[in-house]
Amino acid sequence: MTYDVIVIGGGPAGLSGAVALGRALRKVLVVDAGSPRNAPAEGIHNYLTHDGISPARFHAAGRAEVERYGGDLIEATVTSAARDGDLLTVTLADGRTIAARRLLVTTGLTDELPRVPGLRERWGREVVHCPYCHGYEARGRAIGVLGSSPLSLHQALMWRQWSDDVTLFLHDAPAPDAEQAEQFAARGISVVPGKVAEAVVEDDRLTGVRLSDGTVVPREVLVVAPRLTANAEPLPSLGLTATENDFGTAVVAEPSGRTEVPGVWVAGNVTDQMAQVISSAAAGLHVAAQLNMDLIMDDTARAVAGLAAAGR
Ligand SMILES: Cc1cc2nc3c(=O)[nH]c(=O)nc-3n(C[C@H](O)[C@H](O)[C@H](O)COP(=O)(O)OP(=O)(O)OC[C@H]3O[C@@H](n4cnc5c(N)ncnc54)[C@H](O)[C@@H]3O)c2cc1C
Repeated sequence: MTYDVIVIGGGPAGLSGAVALGRALRKVLVVDAGSPRNAPAEGIHNYLTHDGISPARFHAAGRAEVERYGGDLIEATVTSAARDGDLLTVTLADGRTIAARRLLVTTGLTDELPRVPGLRERWGREVVHCPYCHGYEARGRAIGVLGSSPLSLHQALMWRQWSDDVTLFLHDAPAPDAEQAEQFAARGISVVPGKVAEAVVEDDRLTGVRLSDGTVVPREVLVVAPRLTANAEPLPSLGLTATENDFGTAVVAEPSGRTEVPGVWVAGNVTDQMAQVISSAAAGLHVAAQLNMDLIMDDTARAVAGLAAAGR
């Protein structure tokens, strides 16, 4: 079986793209490793009409919509991809190889957390990164910001919108300059110099931050700035790599989602690190439409060539 499109990654970008391609009467396969980025979160916010839906329910509904339009789904990891004449093939971790005319890569990204004990345990619960995902639930609480770069100073000012109890732990961040120090003083943001030794977790909850001198500062929420690295494992075998940027790595593409490798398209967090669930889903639809037009032009060129050959 040769598919029109294999979608690698079944998060909001991939599922939305697969639904659009199914509705365009394309034969589509979604291969998904089953580890969406937001899996640790209780609910998805800022997705109009689906506020608070659990990631598991959201993905199950998305997969059902793909199937409703004839799409196939496999739970597996794509380890590599290759060109085979006019086709592209993907190889799964179990060794299976599947062919398609085009690939839509929607593999998302990995949040690499600062190396501080306790963060991973509470990631997506009280250890958070995105105010639009978690800020409302953290409103009015004792918030800490773990400094890892100059961005952390910006995060401290931002999270002040949701609570008047914000402490910036400098850790690996530079000390505020005079202007920033004045801004923090004006907004009542405390700045704690020195290293953080661990996030204190008791009874399955974050309760504070332990400094390297042993002092514990009680905190209910800890904001971090993960390094955002593209899940690009299958791509180097096609000659496509993720590019370094200020936030981590991402696969560079045209606004249409077309990459520099013919036949390979990308959407969602793998190429746009700031995309939320709703914007990843929108990108999946947008790129699927561009990709479908590319297939229409390919179908048309083949039909014209066939007509010419028949007339000869
Ligand atoms: C803790 C947390 C909470 C969040 N809360 C919100 C929120 O409330 N609202 C919001 O809008 N956004 C939220 N986000 C952001 C949201 O998770 C992303 O915007 C969204 O997941 C991006 O969708 P995507 O389809 O690009 O990638 P993903 O959702 O990460 O999906 C990628 C899929 O590809 C699969 N995959 C990866 N590599 C392979 C491979 N080689 N082969 C096969 N499959 C592969 C993965 O297993 C995964 O299922 C949150 C993020 C985090 C970390």
